[in-house]
Amino acid sequence: MKIGIIGAMDIEVKELISSMVDIKKETISGIDFYQGKLEDKDVVVAECGIGKVYAAVCAQTMILKYEPDIIINTGVAGSLSTELRIGDIVISDGVVQHDYDASPIGIPAGMISGVNLIKIPCREELVKKIFKAAEILEDTNIALGTIASGDQFICSKEKKDFIANTFDALCAEMEGAAIGHVCYINNVDFCIIRAMSDMADGSAHMDFDAFVEIAVEKTILIIKNFLRN
Ligand code: SAH
Repeated sequence: MKIGIIGAMDIEVKELISSMVDIKKETISGIDFYQGKLEDKDVVVAECGIGKVYAAVCAQTMILKYEPDIIINTGVAGSLSTELRIGDIVISDGVVQHDYDASPIGIPAGMISGVNLIKIPCREELVKKIFKAAEILEDTNIALGTIASGDQFICSKEKKDFIANTFDALCAEMEGAAIGHVCYINNVDFCIIRAMSDMADGSAHMDFDAFVEIAVEKTILIIKNFLRN
Protein backbone atom coordinates (compact mmCIF):
# COMPACT_ATOMS: atom_id res chain seq x y z
CA MET A 1 0.00 0.00 0.00
CA LYS A 2 1.43 3.34 -1.02
CA ILE A 3 -0.17 6.60 0.07
CA GLY A 4 0.17 9.81 -1.92
CA ILE A 5 -0.11 13.07 0.00
CA ILE A 6 -0.43 16.44 -1.74
CA GLY A 7 -0.36 19.90 -0.20
CA ALA A 8 -0.47 23.15 -2.13
CA MET A 9 1.89 25.19 0.04
CA ASP A 10 5.22 24.46 1.72
CA ILE A 11 3.69 25.01 5.15
CA GLU A 12 1.11 22.28 4.47
CA VAL A 13 3.64 19.50 3.83
CA LYS A 14 7.00 20.52 5.32
CA GLU A 15 6.34 18.90 8.70
CA LEU A 16 5.33 15.61 6.99
CA ILE A 17 8.47 15.65 4.85
CA SER A 18 10.71 16.32 7.83
CA SER A 19 9.14 13.33 9.65
CA MET A 20 9.90 10.96 6.73
CA VAL A 21 12.80 8.50 6.53
CA ASP A 22 14.58 6.92 3.53
CA ILE A 23 13.70 9.96 1.43
CA LYS A 24 14.27 10.09 -2.30
CA LYS A 25 13.51 13.46 -3.88
CA GLU A 26 12.70 14.01 -7.54
CA THR A 27 11.55 17.17 -9.29
CA ILE A 28 9.13 16.83 -12.20
CA SER A 29 7.56 19.81 -13.99
CA GLY A 30 8.89 21.99 -11.18
CA ILE A 31 7.09 19.97 -8.48
CA ASP A 32 9.15 18.23 -5.78
CA PHE A 33 8.11 14.64 -5.01
CA TYR A 34 9.45 13.00 -1.83
CA GLN A 35 9.23 9.21 -1.68
CA GLY A 36 9.97 7.39 1.56
CA LYS A 37 8.46 6.13 4.80
CA LEU A 38 6.23 8.00 7.19
CA GLU A 39 4.95 6.26 10.34
CA ASP A 40 6.41 3.09 8.76
CA LYS A 41 4.19 3.33 5.66
CA ASP A 42 5.25 3.88 2.06
CA VAL A 43 4.36 7.41 1.06
CA VAL A 44 4.98 9.93 -1.68
CA VAL A 45 4.52 13.55 -0.62
CA ALA A 46 4.40 16.56 -2.95
CA GLU A 47 3.94 20.31 -2.71
CA CYS A 48 1.90 21.08 -5.82
CA GLY A 49 1.54 24.88 -5.78
CA ILE A 50 -1.59 27.01 -5.63
CA GLY A 51 -4.58 26.37 -7.86
CA LYS A 52 -6.31 23.69 -9.90
CA VAL A 53 -3.82 23.42 -12.77
CA TYR A 54 -0.83 22.77 -10.51
CA ALA A 55 -2.91 20.38 -8.43
CA ALA A 56 -4.00 18.40 -11.50
CA VAL A 57 -0.47 18.23 -12.93
CA CYS A 58 0.79 17.00 -9.58
CA ALA A 59 -1.91 14.36 -9.09
CA GLN A 60 -1.58 12.99 -12.63
CA THR A 61 2.21 12.85 -12.39
CA MET A 62 2.06 11.20 -8.98
CA ILE A 63 -0.32 8.53 -10.29
CA LEU A 64 1.72 7.72 -13.42
CA LYS A 65 5.15 7.89 -11.82
CA TYR A 66 4.63 6.58 -8.26
CA GLU A 67 1.37 4.56 -8.54
CA PRO A 68 -0.12 5.44 -5.12
CA ASP A 69 -3.12 3.35 -4.01
CA ILE A 70 -4.79 6.41 -2.57
CA ILE A 71 -4.19 10.15 -2.64
CA ILE A 72 -4.88 12.46 0.29
CA ASN A 73 -4.94 16.21 -0.23
CA THR A 74 -4.21 18.12 2.94
CA GLY A 75 -4.30 21.81 3.69
CA VAL A 76 -6.33 24.80 4.73
CA ALA A 77 -9.59 26.26 3.46
CA GLY A 78 -12.11 29.03 3.98
CA SER A 79 -15.20 28.05 5.95
CA LEU A 80 -18.56 28.44 4.21
CA SER A 81 -20.56 27.44 7.24
CA THR A 82 -21.42 29.26 10.46
CA GLU A 83 -20.95 25.90 12.22
CA LEU A 84 -17.29 25.71 11.18
CA ARG A 85 -14.92 28.10 12.93
CA ILE A 86 -11.21 28.63 12.34
CA GLY A 87 -9.32 25.45 13.26
CA ASP A 88 -12.28 23.15 12.58
CA ILE A 89 -11.91 20.33 10.07
CA VAL A 90 -13.75 19.30 6.91
CA ILE A 91 -13.26 15.84 5.44
CA SER A 92 -14.59 15.41 1.92
CA ASP A 93 -17.28 12.96 0.92
CA GLY A 94 -16.95 14.53 -2.52
CA VAL A 95 -15.64 17.57 -4.36
CA VAL A 96 -17.02 20.22 -6.73
CA GLN A 97 -15.41 22.85 -8.97
CA HIS A 98 -17.34 26.03 -8.23
CA ASP A 99 -15.78 27.89 -11.17
CA TYR A 100 -16.56 25.21 -13.77
CA ASP A 101 -19.54 26.86 -15.38
CA ALA A 102 -21.27 26.36 -18.71
CA SER A 103 -24.63 27.49 -17.32
CA PRO A 104 -25.10 30.22 -19.99
CA ILE A 105 -25.70 27.40 -22.51
CA GLY A 106 -28.08 25.50 -20.28
CA ILE A 107 -25.71 23.15 -18.46
CA PRO A 108 -26.00 23.08 -14.66
CA ALA A 109 -23.29 25.07 -12.85
CA GLY A 110 -20.39 22.85 -11.90
CA MET A 111 -21.30 20.00 -14.27
CA ILE A 112 -18.01 18.48 -15.44
CA SER A 113 -17.98 17.54 -19.09
CA GLY A 114 -17.07 13.93 -19.88
CA VAL A 115 -17.66 12.49 -16.43
CA ASN A 116 -21.07 14.21 -16.31
CA LEU A 117 -20.96 14.84 -12.60
CA ILE A 118 -21.14 18.01 -10.51
CA LYS A 119 -19.87 16.35 -7.35
CA ILE A 120 -17.09 13.81 -7.70
CA PRO A 121 -17.57 11.33 -4.87
CA CYS A 122 -14.94 9.88 -2.55
CA ARG A 123 -15.11 6.20 -1.68
CA GLU A 124 -16.92 5.77 1.62
CA GLU A 125 -14.50 3.27 3.14
CA LEU A 126 -11.51 5.63 2.88
CA VAL A 127 -13.51 8.62 4.10
CA LYS A 128 -14.68 6.68 7.18
CA LYS A 129 -11.10 5.74 8.08
CA ILE A 130 -9.91 9.32 7.77
CA PHE A 131 -12.87 10.60 9.78
CA LYS A 132 -11.99 8.11 12.52
CA ALA A 133 -8.36 9.26 12.46
CA ALA A 134 -9.54 12.87 12.87
CA GLU A 135 -11.24 12.01 16.15
CA ILE A 136 -7.78 12.27 17.74
CA LEU A 137 -8.29 16.07 17.76
CA GLU A 138 -9.75 17.61 20.88
CA ASP A 139 -12.00 20.67 20.96
CA THR A 140 -12.38 20.55 17.18
CA ASN A 141 -15.53 20.28 15.15
CA ILE A 142 -15.06 17.66 12.40
CA ALA A 143 -17.52 17.79 9.51
CA LEU A 144 -18.05 15.48 6.57
CA GLY A 145 -19.29 16.95 3.31
CA THR A 146 -18.67 18.69 0.02
CA ILE A 147 -15.47 20.66 -0.55
CA ALA A 148 -15.54 23.27 -3.32
CA SER A 149 -12.47 24.30 -5.32
CA GLY A 150 -11.81 27.07 -7.80
CA ASP A 151 -9.01 29.35 -8.92
CA GLN A 152 -10.12 32.14 -6.58
CA PHE A 153 -9.41 33.09 -2.98
CA ILE A 154 -12.93 33.46 -1.60
CA CYS A 155 -13.29 36.52 0.61
CA SER A 156 -16.69 38.10 0.07
CA LYS A 157 -20.06 37.28 1.53
CA GLU A 158 -21.71 37.14 -1.93
CA LYS A 159 -19.25 34.62 -3.33
CA LYS A 160 -19.24 32.61 -0.12
CA ASP A 161 -23.04 32.38 -0.08
CA PHE A 162 -23.15 31.52 -3.80
CA ILE A 163 -20.79 28.55 -3.36
CA ALA A 164 -22.43 27.36 -0.14
CA ASN A 165 -25.93 27.55 -1.59
CA THR A 166 -25.29 26.33 -5.15
CA PHE A 167 -23.17 23.33 -4.17
CA ASP A 168 -24.11 22.73 -0.54
CA ALA A 169 -20.38 22.98 0.19
CA LEU A 170 -18.81 23.31 3.64
CA CYS A 171 -15.53 24.99 2.69
CA ALA A 172 -13.72 26.57 -0.26
CA GLU A 173 -10.15 26.07 -1.39
CA MET A 174 -8.19 25.97 -4.63
CA GLU A 175 -6.92 22.42 -5.29
CA GLY A 176 -8.98 19.56 -3.83
CA ALA A 177 -11.50 19.13 -6.64
CA ALA A 178 -8.78 19.13 -9.30
CA ILE A 179 -7.03 16.32 -7.43
CA GLY A 180 -10.36 14.51 -7.02
CA HIS A 181 -11.13 14.89 -10.73
CA VAL A 182 -7.75 13.44 -11.73
CA CYS A 183 -8.09 10.57 -9.24
CA TYR A 184 -11.61 9.80 -10.46
CA ILE A 185 -10.61 9.43 -14.12
CA ASN A 186 -7.64 7.27 -13.07
CA ASN A 187 -9.62 5.07 -10.65
CA VAL A 188 -7.56 6.10 -7.63
CA ASP A 189 -9.30 6.62 -4.27
CA PHE A 190 -8.92 10.09 -2.81
CA CYS A 191 -9.93 12.20 0.14
CA ILE A 192 -9.44 15.86 1.02
CA ILE A 193 -8.67 16.98 4.59
CA ARG A 194 -8.93 20.73 5.20
CA ALA A 195 -8.58 22.78 8.36
CA MET A 196 -10.34 26.16 8.37
CA SER A 197 -7.85 29.03 8.12
CA ASP A 198 -10.42 31.80 7.51
CA MET A 199 -14.12 32.45 7.18
CA ALA A 200 -14.02 33.18 3.41
CA ASP A 201 -15.63 36.57 3.97
CA GLY A 202 -14.41 40.17 4.02
CA SER A 203 -11.88 39.57 6.79
CA ALA A 204 -10.44 36.44 5.18
CA HIS A 205 -7.08 37.80 4.11
CA MET A 206 -6.34 38.90 7.66
CA ASP A 207 -7.53 35.63 9.21
CA PHE A 208 -5.61 33.58 6.70
CA ASP A 209 -2.07 34.64 7.64
CA ALA A 210 -2.83 34.61 11.33
CA PHE A 211 -4.36 31.15 11.49
CA VAL A 212 -2.81 29.11 8.71
CA GLU A 213 -0.18 27.56 10.98
CA ILE A 214 -2.61 26.48 13.70
CA ALA A 215 -4.89 24.99 11.06
CA VAL A 216 -2.10 23.06 9.33
CA GLU A 217 -0.95 21.45 12.61
CA LYS A 218 -4.34 19.77 12.91
CA THR A 219 -4.30 18.21 9.45
CA ILE A 220 -0.81 16.84 10.11
CA LEU A 221 -2.04 15.15 13.30
CA ILE A 222 -4.90 13.53 11.37
CA ILE A 223 -2.63 12.22 8.62
CA LYS A 224 -0.10 10.76 11.04
CA ASN A 225 -2.87 9.10 13.04
CA PHE A 226 -4.39 7.71 9.82
CA LEU A 227 -1.03 6.25 8.77
CA ARG A 228 -0.45 4.69 12.22
CA ASN A 229 -3.78 2.87 12.06
N1 SAH B 1 0.05 32.78 0.41
C1 SAH B 1 -0.07 32.00 -0.80
C2 SAH B 1 -1.43 32.12 -1.40
C3 SAH B 1 -2.41 31.36 -0.62
S1 SAH B 1 -3.87 31.12 -1.53
C4 SAH B 1 0.99 32.43 -1.79
O1 SAH B 1 1.85 33.15 -1.42
O2 SAH B 1 0.96 31.99 -2.93
C5 SAH B 1 -4.78 30.21 -0.36
C6 SAH B 1 -4.43 28.77 -0.19
O3 SAH B 1 -5.15 28.27 0.93
C7 SAH B 1 -4.85 27.88 -1.35
O4 SAH B 1 -3.98 26.81 -1.49
C8 SAH B 1 -6.26 27.41 -0.96
O5 SAH B 1 -6.47 26.04 -1.24
C9 SAH B 1 -6.37 27.64 0.54
N2 SAH B 1 -7.43 28.55 1.00
C10 SAH B 1 -7.56 28.93 2.29
N3 SAH B 1 -8.59 29.79 2.44
C11 SAH B 1 -9.14 29.96 1.22
C12 SAH B 1 -10.23 30.75 0.73
N4 SAH B 1 -10.94 31.53 1.54
N5 SAH B 1 -10.52 30.68 -0.59
C13 SAH B 1 -9.80 29.90 -1.41
N6 SAH B 1 -8.74 29.15 -1.01
C14 SAH B 1 -8.40 29.17 0.30
